[in-house]
Amino acid sequence: MPENTTSPVYVIGGGPGGLATAAALADRGIRAVVLEKADAVAASWRGHYDSLRLHTTRRLSALPGLAIPRAYGRWLARDDVIRYLEEYARHHRLDVVTGVEVSRIERTDSGWLLHATGGRRLAARDVVIATGFNHTPYLPDWEGRDGYTGELLHARAYRNADPYADRDVLVVGSGNTGADIAVDLAAGGASRVRLAVRTPPHIVRRTTVGWPAQRTGILCRRLPVGAVDRAARGLARLSLPDLAEYGLPRPDTGLYSRAVEGAIPVQDTGLIDAVRSRAVEPVAAVASFDHDKVVLADGSRISPDAVIAATGYRRGLETLVGHLDVLDGRGRPVVHGPRAAAGAPGLYFTGYTNPISGMLRELSLDAHRIARRIARTTERG
Ligand SMILES: Cc1cc2nc3c(=O)[nH]c(=O)nc-3n(C[C@H](O)[C@H](O)[C@H](O)COP(=O)(O)OP(=O)(O)OC[C@H]3O[C@@H](n4cnc5c(N)ncnc54)[C@H](O)[C@@H]3O)c2cc1C
Repeated sequence: MPENTTSPVYVIGGGPGGLATAAALADRGIRAVVLEKADAVAASWRGHYDSLRLHTTRRLSALPGLAIPRAYGRWLARDDVIRYLEEYARHHRLDVVTGVEVSRIERTDSGWLLHATGGRRLAARDVVIATGFNHTPYLPDWEGRDGYTGELLHARAYRNADPYADRDVLVVGSGNTGADIAVDLAAGGASRVRLAVRTPPHIVRRTTVGWPAQRTGILCRRLPVGAVDRAARGLARLSLPDLAEYGLPRPDTGLYSRAVEGAIPVQDTGLIDAVRSRAVEPVAAVASFDHDKVVLADGSRISPDAVIAATGYRRGLETLVGHLDVLDGRGRPVVHGPRAAAGAPGLYFTGYTNPISGMLRELSLDAHRIARRIARTTERG
């Protein structure tokens, strides 16, 4: 086995992507040190809402070298994801240094220099960046937003429905998080729940006769986009009710075309029933704010007690690597997995795509690929 005796590979981020890559490197005899800015691994999962469950299956969500215990069930609860990741780091005896944030990476003659918390300067030939697709909560710059007098928060700050009992809430954004939170609020006693929809989402059943949607997603990745779009349209008409009369028409773009652009379908964990029972009311997209009012795209003006924006995240990579010419116009790495950008050998990215086959599964595959690549370049010296 090759032994990297000079400097370790630094892996930035102690989420599933960073941990999986560190384990895959260790498996090849390569020393890796995980630098995590929070005080424990799995920091992003600790911040997610209480009712969150994986929508990918237990088997297809496990990271390299450690199965997820059967006792956690098919769809893992948030706390079990955290337990699994803690156990994962212990099991693989990973070298995780917490409380260290890497603020900037610079090129040197022999590789990379990391600037980190407390004035640390860390040199390495190989660096893996795994700071998360969902790094920085994104709130659109709606007109009048700053002057809004009502309660406005990003979904990242939502924990559970308790603070919203008997209150009128508008959830903005109909991705998986917005759908989950709207259903959670309706079940948790909010007096009214509206869901602002800009583009009607594709909705899929989490399982059909025991077959998980994720497995279909994995198969689809090998097929032409147009064919999958057509098949998905047919399947949706057969298996899902038309919600147009409730304000949620079927999307007019293809499911896979949207997924390729990064908008993965919404897994139904209660949204369809909630919409049909009018416990969740789809409304037009948010256009702007006007003091205590929210103005919707259809011109209506509403006054919810609280607005929860499930409007996504940004990668937040600009300060870290924005000067290295490795990001595209949307702030995403131009390469991912085992490939390094031209002029940036030894700098790897994992976790910056949102595949229809499940991100945890993709992180595991990339962990192996990155470790293999680093092992090869280490052998070559
Ligand atoms: C609500 C939600 C539900 C999801 N459900 C699923 C699912 O069911 N199935 C699935 O496959 N995927 C799911 N995902 C997607 C994905 O699997 C998770 O987001 C996963 O946590 C990504 O792992 P990661 O390691 O890439 O990033 P993260 O888990 O975000 O970890 C990044 C880590 O890097 C640290 N960090 C960030 N910046 C720095 C820095 N500069 N220096 C040091 N440390 C830093 C952070 O503190 C964090 O611990 C979900 C995502 C979300 C948001």
